[in-house]
Amino acid sequence: MATAALPDSTTSKDPQWGRILICGGTDWPKLGKKGAGKGGEGDGPINPDLLEPNILRSLLNVKITSVHTSCAGCHFVAIDIDGQAWLFGRNGSSCLGVVDVEYVSENAPIRLKPTDLGAPAGTKFVHAACGRNHTILVGSDGSVWGAGANTLGQCGQTVCPEVSGFKNVPVTHQGNRERVVKAAAGTTFSVVLTDTGKVFTFGSAANGQLGNGTTGERIVTGNKTAYDIETKPIYVKELHEKKIVKIVSGPQHTLAMDDTGVVYVWGYNGYCRLGLGDQKDALKPKVVPQFAGPNPSTMGADICAGPSSSIIADKQGMFYMAGKWKNSGDGSSGSPYSTFRFIQDIMGCKVMHARSGGVTHWLITPDDDGMPMTVCWGQNAANGELGLGLDEPKSATKPTRNVPLQGIEVFDIAAGQNTTLFLAKPNDKFSELPRHPEDVQPPGACPKCRKDEGDPLECDKCDSPWHLHCLSPPLAEIPAGEWFCPTCVAAGPGSAVGTYWKKLKKPKFGVHKPPPQVAQPADDYDDDFDDSSDSDVGTKRKAPAGRGGAAKKKRS
Ligand SMILES: [Zn+2]
Ligand SMILES: [Zn+2]
Repeated sequence: MATAALPDSTTSKDPQWGRILICGGTDWPKLGKKGAGKGGEGDGPINPDLLEPNILRSLLNVKITSVHTSCAGCHFVAIDIDGQAWLFGRNGSSCLGVVDVEYVSENAPIRLKPTDLGAPAGTKFVHAACGRNHTILVGSDGSVWGAGANTLGQCGQTVCPEVSGFKNVPVTHQGNRERVVKAAAGTTFSVVLTDTGKVFTFGSAANGQLGNGTTGERIVTGNKTAYDIETKPIYVKELHEKKIVKIVSGPQHTLAMDDTGVVYVWGYNGYCRLGLGDQKDALKPKVVPQFAGPNPSTMGADICAGPSSSIIADKQGMFYMAGKWKNSGDGSSGSPYSTFRFIQDIMGCKVMHARSGGVTHWLITPDDDGMPMTVCWGQNAANGELGLGLDEPKSATKPTRNVPLQGIEVFDIAAGQNTTLFLAKPNDKFSELPRHPEDVQPPGACPKCRKDEGDPLECDKCDSPWHLHCLSPPLAEIPAGEWFCPTCVAAGPGSAVGTYWKKLKKPKFGVHKPPPQVAQPADDYDDDFDDSSDSDVGTKRKAPAGRGGAAKKKRS
């Protein structure tokens, strides 16, 4: 969430909540691969590319408070007002905590409660982070859980191919249990932040991602290079006495901001993504000099990490980027931004919220009337993840107003590799947007009297036509705002939509079994590090082959 809060029109004491809009790819197993978005085969479901923001019907009757994903990921976590998590997308390495399914449709998301994971009654999920193939959840009791790829300990468990069900990750410091409030995740590591502003990391140290000053690089059997793996959260000592309030991670780097607005960066530094003026990996958190003060207005207010870039918005709302964030010209691989530079096209915008997806960049800024305006750009966006409209280009080189979102108050964005979610306050403009899925096979007549006549009221979620007088109790007039039919209310919030998804069996939750305690050869593990969305790794720099393995270097 942005530090500069958006105007909140809700009058109750409820936390700010909204409804989910979705655009971009929904063909979860194929995203980022050839043939994505071509639709289903035979009787299978259609998983289209959505070229404009669509109302996500399945979660339309759930009050969502935050949405989470990764710029390198194809899965999402939405947290609702009751502290339940809703998960959907690609289930790579069982990162959704379920087994035997390749993906979970956005039309039939999984609901997870902290009590399902053994948390005490009353515990809520308060934060979540997604890596490429793993997920970290945070509870209101300060607990952390991880599921998914654990080849390098990124789920906080003894190294194994995957943690197939959410498993608790104890975070302790000097023998005391720490209360975690936020999480961030890269491809091969995770970061957690405690209520006192301490930062802990776990996973692979190969490029300094753990911020503990070492990669542990060494030659192992077969002349291969190995690096340290920390399977238990370790304290980032360099940030001692700083009260960190925000953490964000790209696939292999992290930004953290303290309560005064000083920004720290560490990890992989290809294309100068850390904005420190060089390409040397930072093995420990380093202060970004431009935002170190003393003038408070030039210090950080919001931070964001992209696949090969970083964003800092200062307290005046000025927007700065470092690294590679486009494909040609200044800011591309040939001439990345080696330090944080402002973007000319949006100089006049006061940035309240910034996000980066696979190839997309997003910001929310007040328009001339003070209404939040959503601005986006991204070269080579191919699945509709910019959501600019059916007849508009899918890709945009320069910052562009998202016209379909005009008049809609967006207050959170989760920008994934090929898909974007928005959290928006429902209003009349919102209700005019298309709904996903488009066709949910509603009954042809009123479900109560079975008559196809008169002027029935249509359910906002499932399109079923109900006569006002057939409802119990009957309604005298069309209700203002959203309306959900008795069937959708009975099915419970977040129930599946569409005949296909309603009939589908619910996926089974996985249960993690720790691997036997034997040393495995290093190359037994699939190396998550060498992923397509961060393909600069391993080509421009030394090949990261053969990392991993259970053998840990003894520290002197
Ligand atoms: Zn009727
Ligand atoms: Zn309905």
